[in-house]
Amino acid sequence: MRRKLAAGNWKMHGLAADLAEAEALSKAHPAPRCEVLICPPATLLARLADTLSGGTVAVGGQDCHTAAKGAHTGDVSAVMLADAGATHVIVGHSERRADHAETDAAIAAKAASAHAAGLTAIICLGETEAQRDAGETLAVVAAQLAGSLPEGATAANTVIAYEPVWAIGTGRTPTIDQIAEVHTALRTHLRSALPAEGDGIRLLYGGSVKPANAAEIFAVADVDGALVGGASLKAADFGAIIAAL
Ligand code: 13P
Repeated sequence: MRRKLAAGNWKMHGLAADLAEAEALSKAHPAPRCEVLICPPATLLARLADTLSGGTVAVGGQDCHTAAKGAHTGDVSAVMLADAGATHVIVGHSERRADHAETDAAIAAKAASAHAAGLTAIICLGETEAQRDAGETLAVVAAQLAGSLPEGATAANTVIAYEPVWAIGTGRTPTIDQIAEVHTALRTHLRSALPAEGDGIRLLYGGSVKPANAAEIFAVADVDGALVGGASLKAADFGAIIAAL
């Protein structure tokens, strides 16, 4: 049985004053049915981990370098994230694939470095609107999955997040049937790539998840939770999504 996961991605949002939102969320949900994670900007990670220590809300990074340390100005390693109190890290978000030209191979290497540091990697993938319109969605996500999944991925150290690029921050979501189609396909690929682990790896949906649509999306078979952007910034909204899981 896969435990559901509600993961918040704060992206490049959040100053010290916003730690209070996370604290409020943690206090409002002392014993959530699902696992809860907040991925703040790197500047807040250590403070957020301190703020939330002793509670049930985990803290994660939004990206990591492929190396554990070295001459890489401005980058943060998985070891550093773990040292700051993270238990998870998002890798391969479409914003990083687009803004930093990250390839599937680089993402697999980042996920491997996360695993080496003891972190759970949340590997993101998803089609663009043009790819969906061209009927390429299943081929695109299958190729991204095959290319981004590192050796040694297990149900404990890996989560996959399906985030259609055109649904991120737009208020548009795929239909329930479209979400189900992609999640079923991803599950089939995971089972064949990793016979022992593929069934246990959680598959999150991400892209304009809100309190109003969360329950309907979470009812889809093989949707094991959500990766939430904008609606994770406010305790009330993210709390309502957590309650729907
Ligand atoms: P929104 O929930 O703001 O659409 O963002 C989704 C996302 O990219 C989470 O990683």
